[in-house]
Amino acid sequence: MRFASVIHDDQTVVVALDGDQAHDLSDLLPTARTTLDPMVELLRAGLPDEATAFALPELPRPLSYAPLVSQPSKVVAAPVNYRDHQVEMQQLGNVSALGFFLKSPSSLASHGGVVRLPYSDRRFDQEGELALLIGKDGRDLDPERAIDHIAGYTCLIDMTMRGGEDRSTRKSFDTFTPIGPHLVTPDEVGDLSDMTLRTWVNGNLRQDADISTLIWGVAQFVTYVSSVTELKTGDVVTTGTPAGVGAVAGGDAITVSIDRVGTLEVSVTEEATVPCPTGGAGSGPKPPDTLTPVRKREAMR
Ligand code: MN
Repeated sequence: MRFASVIHDDQTVVVALDGDQAHDLSDLLPTARTTLDPMVELLRAGLPDEATAFALPELPRPLSYAPLVSQPSKVVAAPVNYRDHQVEMQQLGNVSALGFFLKSPSSLASHGGVVRLPYSDRRFDQEGELALLIGKDGRDLDPERAIDHIAGYTCLIDMTMRGGEDRSTRKSFDTFTPIGPHLVTPDEVGDLSDMTLRTWVNGNLRQDADISTLIWGVAQFVTYVSSVTELKTGDVVTTGTPAGVGAVAGGDAITVSIDRVGTLEVSVTEEATVPCPTGGAGSGPKPPDTLTPVRKREAMR
């Protein structure tokens, strides 16, 4: 099944999608809410089956998307989790040496939304990624149980300022984590070893990778994260980006598409940029000056 968070009458509403039809799941949420995020509430209540969800009233179309999840306890991200990206970034270490980093939950943004670049004098890159939402609390999971804690999959753009500042700073600007459009349950996604992730900027293909080339696969990464910190219902875990990162600028359109998971689209604006107050430009991991060509990427794997 597919679920989404949409704006209806100025409120965020969770829906189940039946083709073009969006069924309002508000009646399935507890009346006394403990969070303002209806997706977290829905996940805590348990995702409904089709018979229950599709009997609920439809919302009018077109849908205006909200961030798929807006107030998770955390957004956990994998650094350098594809070999071809490790090569293009000239990194000695990958996820198996680096572990994970956190992005601010306030950086989450919606499908169809706008990424706002903060500074006029820094480079910002797109990173298309496969992400997942945690469906129930858990820690110290083994790989088999880790899979059981995944509510579903979605697309994510890990926007990144290049330079020497801490990763959590460079990736936590508001709007720097577009997510969606849908949460797709594992039964509908099927075999992850048979999936392609592609990212376009202004229609030009930049990233084209098999999910099977992840260094730490989904189960291994979730298992590892849960050994450090409890994974809470609604948490976002994003699995890293393949080769093909590159600079984006105001006016650009970014599209990430993953087989059977969906297509996430955002635009980029440079309105209201200011000079950067930190001095990390020119240090830190060195991104490629030009886009890594596809043929070379295949040789890196
Ligand atoms: Mn990333």
